[in-house]
Amino acid sequence: SCAQGCRVSIQFKSINELREMLDSKAISSSELTQETLKLAEDLKELNCFVTMNGDASIEKAKKIDQTERVNSVLSGIPLAQKDLFCTEGLRTTCSSKILSNFIPPYTATAVMKLESAGSITIGKTNMDEFAMGSSNETSYFGNVHNPWKKGYVPGGSSGGSAAAVAAGIVPAATGTDTGGSIRQPAAHCGITGIKPTYGRVSRWGMIAFASSLDQAGPLARSAEDCAILLNEMSGHDSKDTTSLDIENTDLLHTINQSIKGLKIGIVKEFSLGDLDSEVQNRFEDSKKLYETLGAKFVEISLPNISASVPTYYSIAPAECSSNLSRFDGVRFGHRAENTGDLNDLYIKSRSEGFGDEVKRRILIGTYALSAGYYDAYYKKAQQVRRLIKNDFTLAFESVDLIMTPTSPGTAFAFGSKGAKNPIELYLEDLFTISSNLAGLPAISIPHGKVNSLPAGLQLIGNFLQEGQLLNAAHIFQQNSEFHLEKPSMEEF
Ligand code: GLN
Repeated sequence: SCAQGCRVSIQFKSINELREMLDSKAISSSELTQETLKLAEDLKELNCFVTMNGDASIEKAKKIDQTERVNSVLSGIPLAQKDLFCTEGLRTTCSSKILSNFIPPYTATAVMKLESAGSITIGKTNMDEFAMGSSNETSYFGNVHNPWKKGYVPGGSSGGSAAAVAAGIVPAATGTDTGGSIRQPAAHCGITGIKPTYGRVSRWGMIAFASSLDQAGPLARSAEDCAILLNEMSGHDSKDTTSLDIENTDLLHTINQSIKGLKIGIVKEFSLGDLDSEVQNRFEDSKKLYETLGAKFVEISLPNISASVPTYYSIAPAECSSNLSRFDGVRFGHRAENTGDLNDLYIKSRSEGFGDEVKRRILIGTYALSAGYYDAYYKKAQQVRRLIKNDFTLAFESVDLIMTPTSPGTAFAFGSKGAKNPIELYLEDLFTISSNLAGLPAISIPHGKVNSLPAGLQLIGNFLQEGQLLNAAHIFQQNSEFHLEKPSMEEF
């Protein structure tokens, strides 16, 4: 093992590279953890962490070094968790003032599984408040910078996780995706992120935004590292009634297979012609690369796809208005001072505790669920959701995967989108939202730059076809170098 104070570079290393360093004793897990914490501290200006797990993470790493090595590739490897997963004894805020003092008594299943595999949670990452947003600008703890360009958003809502991985602090991090919150920040930060099939990963201990859409998944620099995390995170959990009771397949096992003959659908209704020509060029280039590798492209139709953003913005706020009613200043979280009766306590605590975007969603959702509007908005949205799902079912009869850009553009400057009209930001998820509505798995991989910022390519798979998705992404990455590009970060 290296002597005290050694400086083996750990930045930008993949999980397998770190594994190799640990196994060859080039570094110990406690040294690796200390170096990781130091790197996070050096890059503090990015603001990707809300809370660090300093002493506890070093302590766990020491145990792993001494006696408690786990038989898993993740043993002793530092990871970061989105601050929406409850972590026992470690503050969990959802980047909201209302939970700014909340210390959970239990750990979310997904995080527990990663920790049982021996990984070290070094801290909790910044995010949009309650995962509502596409730019990380709704966080109570301030904006996260995109490692590729200071003053630019990392995307959202898993912006802190994406930035921490893109900056090479940790090899991988967890995120959650309700309408695009893993894939869009992955795209804007030039990394890989996968939203699994609804029900593959337990939602127990994840602070709920929109329960029928929320799904946890990994962000990493490669599809391979995503597969390593997803393998551990997946699995049935009796504590989550929507968790799928299926056999766990080893996603690494299927990762290096030929994609000759793979049929990929291009969605007729997504008029890419309206997008920046550079976005279109990247898309065409990636299509060509896939063709070279043996894939075949087929045009498909998703006739109801144009309704996906409005459908989502009826269902997600409705579910959030219900889920967030538990934050009342009584049992946990922020409580206003000098209140009168109970109603006054609720009103003041919630008024002080929630930010503008969260309040907007609660208002929209409460309206959509109220008597007289329920049928017109919520019920209608549920019906359209079914039509969208049916469109995908039909499409997957003729293709294996569907390919789109991840997002219509690249990262943008702080404050430049959505300030006057929130819908500008809602449209960031034009390509990602439909897979949440349908419950399907989807991945974003980096595929080059648009005006010198990273752009993402999205692949959507059929139910439980994560193996196929990760394989297609891995083969792309074996035949390109976009995922290996690193931001210089001279400005930080
Ligand atoms: N950007 C979308 C929203 O603001 C999706 C967020 C998410 O996936 N958590 O709701």
